[in-house]
Amino acid sequence: MQPTPYIWKNGKMHPWETCTTHVLTHGLHYGSAVFEGIRFYETDNGPAIFELEKHTRRLIYSADCLNMTIPYSFDEINDAIVETVRINEVKAGYIRPLIYYGYGNLKVVPHADFAVDMIIACWPWGNYLKTDTAHNTVDIKISPYIRIHPTSTRTDAKISGHYINSLVAGLTVRDTPYHDVLMLDSDGYVAEGSAANIFVIKDGRLFTPPLGTILPGITRSTVMTIAKQLNFPIIEKRFKPDEIYNADEAFFCGTAVEVVGIGSLEDQKIGDGHAGPITQQMQAAYQAVVHGKNPTFYPAITWINKETSVSTSTNDNHTKKPMPSVAACA
Ligand code: PMP
Repeated sequence: MQPTPYIWKNGKMHPWETCTTHVLTHGLHYGSAVFEGIRFYETDNGPAIFELEKHTRRLIYSADCLNMTIPYSFDEINDAIVETVRINEVKAGYIRPLIYYGYGNLKVVPHADFAVDMIIACWPWGNYLKTDTAHNTVDIKISPYIRIHPTSTRTDAKISGHYINSLVAGLTVRDTPYHDVLMLDSDGYVAEGSAANIFVIKDGRLFTPPLGTILPGITRSTVMTIAKQLNFPIIEKRFKPDEIYNADEAFFCGTAVEVVGIGSLEDQKIGDGHAGPITQQMQAAYQAVVHGKNPTFYPAITWINKETSVSTSTNDNHTKKPMPSVAACA
C-alpha cells in the first residue's frame, strides 16, 4: 500500500501515519464495521470518482444493517470523500471509507449509543487480481467454502466480518497457480468470486446470478447497463458450474477487479482460455466509462476539480447535521 498524506477520521484530516485506533476497538474484535471500495480515475478533466453516490448509498445501507447511527448525512459523506481525494492530490486510485463500532466495551451486541467512528483513506492502487500473463485472464477454482447464506447474515451489505468468508475461500488457492476462487451457494449454484461478481457468456447472451446470495455489485449494474447499450441480452438466473464449463466466455467484475476475463475453471479452459471478444468489448467499454469517455455515464462521475467538471451528478439531498470542519491538522 502506498501511503498518501492524509486520512479523514471523524470529520478531520489526520496524517496517514498517526491515524490509528485503540486495540480494544469493537470492530477489530468482531468485524463490526462496514466499508466501501471506490475507484477514481484520471480523466481529461482531472481525477474523477466513479459511482460515488451509489457507493455512499450502499455504505449507509450496510451501516443501517448493523444499527449504526452515522453522524454524517449522505451529502456530508460524499463531500468528505471528495475532499480526501482532493487533499491527497492522487490522480487515480482506490478510496476506502470505513465505519466501525469503536471503543467502549466488548459485549458482542453494542448498546444503542455505542461509539461509531468513520475513516476515509485513498491511495494509488493498480490491478487487484494478478492475471495469467499469456492469456490476460484469471484461472479459478471452486471454493470448498460456500458463500455466506442469506439466512445467516445480511448478505447484501458490505460488512467487514463477511470478508472472513472471502478470506478463508481465497486462502485455499494462495500460493497455487489459481488466481481466485468461485464461491457457490448452499444449493451448489454459482454465487460470485471472493471480491467480484461473475458473468458468463453463451451464444452472445450474458448470464449472471440473481441477487440473493451475492453482494449486489455496483460494477455488476454498470456492466448490465453497458451490455444493454451494446445490445447484448442479459439474463439473471441461477446456474451451476457446468454452465461455465460450457460457456463461450466468462468474466469477473468489481470495483477493484474492474472487468477481468476468466480463462479456466478447475483447469478446464473456458473458450480458448483467452479473454473472449465480448469480454474484451465489455472491458474496453468499462474503461471508457470510468475514464469519462462515455457521456451517457456522466451522471455517475464526480469530477474532483469542480471548476473543470463537465457534469455534476445528481444528489439525493439527504440532510442531517452540518459537516464538521474538515481542517487539515499536520
Ligand atoms: N462481491 C464481493 C464479495 C465483493 O467484495 C465485491 C467488491 N466490492 C463485489 C462482489 C463487487 O462489488 P462492486 O462492483 O460494488 O465493487
